[in-house]
Amino acid sequence: MSFNIAIDGPSGVGKSTIAKQLAADLGFVYIDTGAMFRGLAVFFLDRGLDIDDEKAICDAVNDAEVTIKYEDGLQHVYVNGTDVTSRLRTEDVSRAASVTSQYQPVRTKLLELQREMARTQDVIMDGRDIGTVVLPQAQLKVFMTARPEIQAQRRYDQLKEQGKLGDATFESILNDIKERDYRDSHRANAPLKKADDAVEVDTSELDIPAVMNRMKELVRERKNA
Ligand code: C5P
Repeated sequence: MSFNIAIDGPSGVGKSTIAKQLAADLGFVYIDTGAMFRGLAVFFLDRGLDIDDEKAICDAVNDAEVTIKYEDGLQHVYVNGTDVTSRLRTEDVSRAASVTSQYQPVRTKLLELQREMARTQDVIMDGRDIGTVVLPQAQLKVFMTARPEIQAQRRYDQLKEQGKLGDATFESILNDIKERDYRDSHRANAPLKKADDAVEVDTSELDIPAVMNRMKELVRERKNA
């Protein structure tokens, strides 16, 4: 049976950084489910759709086929055969993914793909509803958090380092993060919430090696259980 690790939490708390490193250490496959929602968001935006028009988005999602491939160990997202990976990390796509992921047909489109990937291989999957909806049987569930100001500072530093800060300020980033996290936590379908059996890891005061140590300790515990 495959060993599944689910990591959920709001944006900018370190989920993907930790999941990637841990997957490399353990020889697991890292699955970034946010990138799948972002891939669909690119598709909707390319069609010129109004992301707040639920019916238009739910109709259009029937025309999108999402596939995941690993190239040099990195996850690539394809929509209808086109690799959209380089287009996933803009503020427009972040917002469009957060809005359109509220709609159930958008979630349903990705659910089977996510479950299938975890059925046959050892995976670390990160997202918002992995421990609660996608992989409720995961052997280890972690709910990662950080104070909003820390989330915003990390995002600010990342954008600055990549030269992609543009007009964004610390305050505008903080507001965007709060808005998105509020939407993710309060939506009707698969909201972001801690699974009853998830372990909470607050990364506000922890650096990456400290979070990694905590994660490895949890994996050891569960593997020996
Ligand atoms: O994790 P990331 O920021 O890339 O996710 C983009 C958006 O996709 C999130 O804001 C959230 O609305 C949505 N998402 C989701 N369920 C997941 C992963 C992401 O609804 N499992």
